Amino acid sequence: MQAPQTAAFQPPRRILMGPGPSDVPQRILDAMARPTIGHLDPAFTTMMEETKALLRYAFQTENKLTFPVSGPGSVGMETCFVNLVEPGDTVVVCINGVFGGRMLENVKRCGGVPVVVEDAWGRAVDPGKVEAAFQAHPEAKLLAFVHAETSTGAQSDGAALAAIARRHGALTIMDCVTSLGGTPVLIDQWGIDAAYSGSQKCLSCTPGLSPVTFGEAAIAKVKARKTPVQSWFMDLNLVLGYWSGEGKRTYHHTAPINPLYGLHEALRILAEEGIENAWARHRAQHQALKAGIEVLGLDFVVPEDERLPQLNAVGLPEGVDDAAARGRLLNEFSLEIGAGLGALAGRIWRIGLMGASARADNVDLCLKALKAVIR
Ligand SMILES: *Cc1c(COP(=O)(O)O)cnc(C)c1O
Repeated sequence: MQAPQTAAFQPPRRILMGPGPSDVPQRILDAMARPTIGHLDPAFTTMMEETKALLRYAFQTENKLTFPVSGPGSVGMETCFVNLVEPGDTVVVCINGVFGGRMLENVKRCGGVPVVVEDAWGRAVDPGKVEAAFQAHPEAKLLAFVHAETSTGAQSDGAALAAIARRHGALTIMDCVTSLGGTPVLIDQWGIDAAYSGSQKCLSCTPGLSPVTFGEAAIAKVKARKTPVQSWFMDLNLVLGYWSGEGKRTYHHTAPINPLYGLHEALRILAEEGIENAWARHRAQHQALKAGIEVLGLDFVVPEDERLPQLNAVGLPEGVDDAAARGRLLNEFSLEIGAGLGALAGRIWRIGLMGASARADNVDLCLKALKAVIR
């Protein structure tokens, strides 16, 4: 068999203003190009410990069990569900977009009994409905919700939802893939028991890593399981020996060494900026984009007080062809924005202002480019 003839891949330069990945700063790419070392090398484990400390800062938590799962955000999602949902557990699942639907799928596959709380796509989760669901199902052991619904750009009230679960003796799983680093995620203050995120959204790293954090009550539930976690790879009891950092580190799987250099650098950038400053920057760039969007006459999908600064969903203008317009943005402006998902496919655009992408010149370019393709 003949080897295929190829050239080294040279990706085009793009400006990434979609739902992730976001622009990756050169500093992070440089970090990832450094020499690969063994994942049990003491130098590597020192970096792992720093990464965990930096992640605790990003999540605003003292949780010891805070680490990046080797896999994209979806693997962080599964890690939470396969460990915390035992067959027969009743789980209140909030659905107000695509990712809440994936949570439901996870609950079902873990043998959990879902109680679905539905809200319209484009709206926050209604705490009143969650309260009613717990009153109707006092046996519920878990609440699962998406803090920042990337499919619509709606932000839910993490503090209020976690408080309801706590009052009813249930644990909380929160998806903060799109919120971490872009808008406040206060794990300890809100009392979130388990949360997962992703490297490629507001942390502006390359895709493929999923920061997770688990509190004491969540760990106790995993340890008290009557049935083994059905996934060997994601079983926290096994992963703990690798990430715990208490002296002897045992082989579990080979960590993605170089991507972890990248995450370490991305988190250092966040720490240097200061997380409050990062939140403020996302808000400020959102305000600038919003002003321009309104001048263009486009409407936001989400009501103002439920809007995420880092994911701006706007209705497609009358008579504009979705794929053709986004094609022009890519070809003429090297700009990527997101299409609608699920029920909103072909009806909205999703403009991301995530991490390093949330900067004034990107907002200017995006508005100029949108104006050109809408005309
Ligand atoms: C992107 C995203 C995910 C999935 O992350 P992947 O890295 O694509 O697996 C999950 N939840 C939300 C809210 C997301 O935005």
